[in-house]
Amino acid sequence: MSSPSIPHFLAGGRRTCAGRALDPLTSPVDGRPLGTVQAADSALLDTTVADARKAFLSWKAVPVKERVQPLFRFKQLAEQHCQELSALIAAESGKTAAEAEAGLRKGLEVVEYAAAFPQLILGELLEVSTGVDCYSRRFPLGVCAGITPFNFPAMVPLWMIPLAIAAGNTFVHKPSEQVPLTPLRLGELLSEAGLPDGVYNVLQGDRGTVEAILDHPGIAAAAFVGSTPVARAVYARGIAAGKRVLALGGAKNHLVAMPDADPVMTAKNVVSSAFGCAGQRCMAASTLLVVGDCQHVVDAIVAETKKIRPGIDMGALINARARARVAGYLDRAAQRGLALLVDGRDVTVPGREGGNYLGPSIIDGARPGDEVACDEIFGPTLTILRVASLDEAIAIENASPYGNAASIYTQDGATAAFFEQRANAGMIGINIGVPVPREPFAFGGWNDSRFGTGDITGRDGIAFWTKTRKVTRKWSVSASKNWMS
Ligand code: NAD
Repeated sequence: MSSPSIPHFLAGGRRTCAGRALDPLTSPVDGRPLGTVQAADSALLDTTVADARKAFLSWKAVPVKERVQPLFRFKQLAEQHCQELSALIAAESGKTAAEAEAGLRKGLEVVEYAAAFPQLILGELLEVSTGVDCYSRRFPLGVCAGITPFNFPAMVPLWMIPLAIAAGNTFVHKPSEQVPLTPLRLGELLSEAGLPDGVYNVLQGDRGTVEAILDHPGIAAAAFVGSTPVARAVYARGIAAGKRVLALGGAKNHLVAMPDADPVMTAKNVVSSAFGCAGQRCMAASTLLVVGDCQHVVDAIVAETKKIRPGIDMGALINARARARVAGYLDRAAQRGLALLVDGRDVTVPGREGGNYLGPSIIDGARPGDEVACDEIFGPTLTILRVASLDEAIAIENASPYGNAASIYTQDGATAAFFEQRANAGMIGINIGVPVPREPFAFGGWNDSRFGTGDITGRDGIAFWTKTRKVTRKWSVSASKNWMS
C-alpha cells in the first residue's frame, strides 16, 4: 500500500504537490505509517516566496494592534485543542502525552509574549538638540524563514512564528522531515484565528529544501534550530547569501552535584533532566560531575532512575537509527570497562514492539576525553564523572565547545554564585536541571550552541525579526497656532 503524501500548508490550507518523495515516515511510538513527505522543489519554493511576498505587502500595512489579534485567538484555540495537538505531537515525535503538552504550553508562552507586541515595541524619543528630536521605529524584514528540529514539533516553531508575524513579516516554515504534521495543524488554527492567507506557510522538505531557502534572494532572514554541525553550515550559507541568520545548535550540558546537595530533590531533578523526552532535549542533563563524597546522591539518582517505566513515564527515540546510535555509545562504554549503573539497552514495550524504545542508562567512571563525556548523545543516558573539587568540575564544563546550559546542586548560596559566575553557558540552573528561562527571559545558549547574535525569544527575538529606523526631525517655528497647540 502506498503511503499517503504529507501536504504543505500554503495559502491558508493543506496543499499536496508533487515533489521528491522522502522515506516513508513511521511513528516512533509503535511503527505505524504516518505518510510520506514530498520535499518541495525549487518551483514550489519560488511560488511560495512570491505568495508570501504578496501577503507581506498587505500584512505589514496592518496596524500592529490589529496584527496581534489573531495571536490572542490562536492561543485560545490551541488551549481548546490542547489534547488533540498533544496527541499529534506525541504520535510523530515519540514523546509521552504529558511531555507533548508541556512543550506546547511552553510555546504558547511566546505567543502570549508576542501578543503584547504593541507594548514591547513602543519607540523612543529624545530631544537631542534644542528643537531637534530623534525617534525610532521598528519595521518588519519581509519574507522570513524558520527551520526547526524534530524534538519539539510545536514549541520550537512557536519560538519563532509569533514574534516574526507580530513584527509584520510573513513566514515560510521548513519543519523537520521527521515531524511534518504538527505545523499543519498549527497553520489551520492560525487561519481559524484570523491570520490572513500567506502569512504563515509550511514547506515540507529536507536538507535540499533548507539550502534552497537559504540561497533564495526573496527571503530576508532565517532562524534555525538543530544540531551544531548543521547550525554552523546553515549560518555560513545564509550569511553568504546576505541574510540575517540566527542558528541555535546542539548541546552537552553539565550538571554539578556538591556533597551538600539535597539528595532527594537532586535525584528527582537530575533524573527528570536526563531522561525526560527520552534525553532528546537540547537542555537535557548529559554529564553529571560529582564533587567529592557524593555517593549518597549517586545512589539516590540510580534508585530514582530504576523507577522509570519506558513507554509510560518515558517516550521513544525518534527513529531506529537514533536508537541504534545511542545503544552504540552504551556498547562501546561497556566494552571500555565503564560501569553501567543502569543499563537500558534491552527494553521492549509490550504492544509497541515496533516503537524505538530504550530504557534510561547511567554510565559511571568516565574520564573527561571519553566520547560519552564529550559527544551530544541525544538519548536517555547520563554520564557520571567523579571529580575532587568544584574547580575541577568547572574546568571540565568550561572545556566543552558547547554552552547551552549548566546546573549546580548545592544548599550553599556562595557556592552556587561561584559556579554561576564561572560556568561557560547561556542558561544556568541552581538546583534546576532544565533551566529553560520562562518568558520574558529569553532562550539561547553560548559558544557552539549558537551561531549569530542574541537569543531567539524575548527582546532579542523582537530585534532579530525587525529593523529599526531612526528619525531626526526639526520644524521651523511657526507663530501661528493650530488646533492642537
Ligand atoms: P538536525 O540538525 O538534524 O535538523 C534540523 C533541521 O535542519 C531539520 O529541519 C532538517 O531537515 C534540517 N537539516 C538537516 N541536515 C541538514 C543539512 N545538512 N543542511 C541543511 N539543513 C539540514 O537536528 P535534529 O536531529 O532534527 O534535532 C536535534 C538537534 O537539535 C540536537 O542537536 C539538539 O540539541 C538540537 N536542538 C537545539 C535546540 C536549541 O535551542 N539550541 C533546541 C532543540 C534542538
